[in-house]
Amino acid sequence: MADALPLRKEMTFEYGVPREVAPGVRRIVAENPSAFTFHGTNTYLVGSEDVAVIDPGPDDEAHIQAIVEAGAGSITKILLTHTHRDHCDGLAKLKAATAAKTLGFGTAPTPRGTTSSSPTNGEFVDHEFTPDLALRDGMKVVSNAWQLTAHHTPGHAPDHLCFTLEGTGILFSGDHVMGWNTSVIAPPEGNMGDYLRSLEKLLKLDAEQYLPGHGGAVHRPQRVAKAFLVHRKMREATILDCVKSGKSTVAEILEIVYRDVDDAVLRAAGLSVFAHLELLIERGLVRANGTPSLTSSFWSA
Ligand SMILES: [Zn+2]
Repeated sequence: MADALPLRKEMTFEYGVPREVAPGVRRIVAENPSAFTFHGTNTYLVGSEDVAVIDPGPDDEAHIQAIVEAGAGSITKILLTHTHRDHCDGLAKLKAATAAKTLGFGTAPTPRGTTSSSPTNGEFVDHEFTPDLALRDGMKVVSNAWQLTAHHTPGHAPDHLCFTLEGTGILFSGDHVMGWNTSVIAPPEGNMGDYLRSLEKLLKLDAEQYLPGHGGAVHRPQRVAKAFLVHRKMREATILDCVKSGKSTVAEILEIVYRDVDDAVLRAAGLSVFAHLELLIERGLVRANGTPSLTSSFWSA
């Protein structure tokens, strides 16, 4: 699916064991491995006396217990990169155990994903989350020891936030940019135009290291983010060529574009093709019969 991309799959970790991945930043990996979550969801703890947790991860007793123990009574804030269940289902238990304040984007302005538009075929979005403090682009979360700045980066999810840890060169990149694989863009939860614009926005921040929601640290992140941009542009060109040559459905295009894809991610690949078609429609290069959907017919405009 992502050949020629500078992907890195190595990652040193042990489930439930905090690992210092940068000065003042610890990571605990949840044991929810899958084709979509890699080894599992990364939970980060920032600071030691006034601790911010970034993404509680799934509702897994052992994982939440590991976070609480690592926080040693000092967890005051829980930040969410986005409300996909593998990142936020553990929130209720962690909040109950710590009484920490929750911070995240909150209500997103666009329709969210449901089971019928899920890359995994299951319910993958928490539609209920209401943060104690709603974060918007550029807002800062401050303690005596650290300062995090929120960056709204829709594309993978409409409520997606990345966070820079000021003065360190670190950006917590959530599921927007990961080192092990490309992000899933599954409309309407995902939007390819937003995803590309958010990538450009991250490039301007000029971070030195990304700490993603799954997988190991992304070093030289500018190179990786640029490679993802080029990859999507090439894919878009291929899909437009397919439509021009008379391939009129997502299924037909999928056969050309994702020839060797595993069954586990085939549905996500189809959604990704559709996400590209939506963007081509937005640009006036492709048309669909009726409201564009996974089962529409498409032709060159
Ligand atoms: Zn996600």
